Amino acid sequence: MLSGNQMVLGRFFYDFAALLQRTPYRKELEACLERQYWVAAELEAWQLAHLNQLLGHAKSSTEYYAAVTESRLSSLNDLPCLPLLAKQDVRQHVRRLKAGRDARGAIRKTTGGSTGAPVTLLKSRHAMSVELAVAWRGMGWAGVSPGDRQVRFWGLPHRRVARIKARLTDFVASRIRCSAFSFTDKDLARYHAQLSRFRPIYAYGYVSMLREFSEYMVSRGLSAPDSLKAVVATAEPLTDFDRREIESAFGVRVYNEYGCGEVGTIAHECEHGSLHINADSLIVETLRSDGSPCKTGESGQIVVTDLHNFAMPVIRYALEDYATCTISKCRCGINLPILESIQGREYDVLINKFGQRFHGEFFLYIFEDLKNSGVPVSGVRVTQTSPDKVDLEIVSSNSESVDRVGDVFRKKLRQSFSDTVQVDVSEVKHIEREASGKMRVIRRRDF
Ligand SMILES: [Zn+2]
Repeated sequence: MLSGNQMVLGRFFYDFAALLQRTPYRKELEACLERQYWVAAELEAWQLAHLNQLLGHAKSSTEYYAAVTESRLSSLNDLPCLPLLAKQDVRQHVRRLKAGRDARGAIRKTTGGSTGAPVTLLKSRHAMSVELAVAWRGMGWAGVSPGDRQVRFWGLPHRRVARIKARLTDFVASRIRCSAFSFTDKDLARYHAQLSRFRPIYAYGYVSMLREFSEYMVSRGLSAPDSLKAVVATAEPLTDFDRREIESAFGVRVYNEYGCGEVGTIAHECEHGSLHINADSLIVETLRSDGSPCKTGESGQIVVTDLHNFAMPVIRYALEDYATCTISKCRCGINLPILESIQGREYDVLINKFGQRFHGEFFLYIFEDLKNSGVPVSGVRVTQTSPDKVDLEIVSSNSESVDRVGDVFRKKLRQSFSDTVQVDVSEVKHIEREASGKMRVIRRRDF
């Protein structure tokens, strides 16, 4: 078991590092723990007041928002009056989005973004403190506290300096990193040995990487150390199938987290399985393709406003992800609104010749069914290259099963996707990760 001293030391190191970074988050954490119980009207009044402050500041301090007509909204229902901010806008107008004096001393965040084209933005130290606070509040729902020992299934930067920085951050944050970049079974064995020595309180990482490690543990009859309390899965859609596989391999509950590099975590799963939105730090909207707000239960593009970042106002930022909101209440007692489901990234949604959209899980379920029925498929990737053409790559131990999987997949697709779809099947040794280290198995090429 971990000694109390180790845990106190972990927390001390973490808080001290946050202070050095000028991002003390403890006070913010206390405040946001109270806000999670606010009733909807209270929360909306808070959002509106902060939005109006941000808007006034953006208009007076940035070139980009100077021309926006509205400087004050009387209701959150008026949000559609404000322009959307696309990733491309942030890439093109960094200088114009910067808020003069308030941008000085800000933290520079560069994120790979789900599109693979990096976005850089500036975040004020205060906004970063709030980002940390709401993230730790959400981790608390999974039973995890700041400074708890973490095993992180994540990427590792290619550049040497960035890699050293990442290692230092890991040390201060009491975590070990199992790289999701170019690993073999030998590395997985090493990761498992590290885990057993380090005895983490929780595991954190890409869904696909957690899956890979889970499969490895199951195939070797290994188990996770009994110090582990939870697994927090992030960065990729978490299917029910993923959840079951990871939970049975790690022997603890999986909690889903949704976020992005630009604004931090957006929603965390509570003990009752609801993804509660950090609505006191972000306004999250879901929009139809014509820009109008989605109704409850309707899926739409996620658009976020970071209420606290005065260094570089991010107002109605389109994330290129899709989600469904719900007004249902959660039994956990937390009143923060709930994201019912998060669908794949924009290019993970395939669109047939009739314009119908198909969530990635649609395709994954076909393979899950096949796997459950005993067809040995170790990996697949589906790439739509034109409205009626799909490439299917299969990792398999024998060519016979490749043909069989290909045939079943083609048949299913012709039944429910398009009756004329052309499916090209190929056998591959393994599925390559994207340059960012993320696994992306359902892709749509631009056409
Ligand atoms: Zn809840």
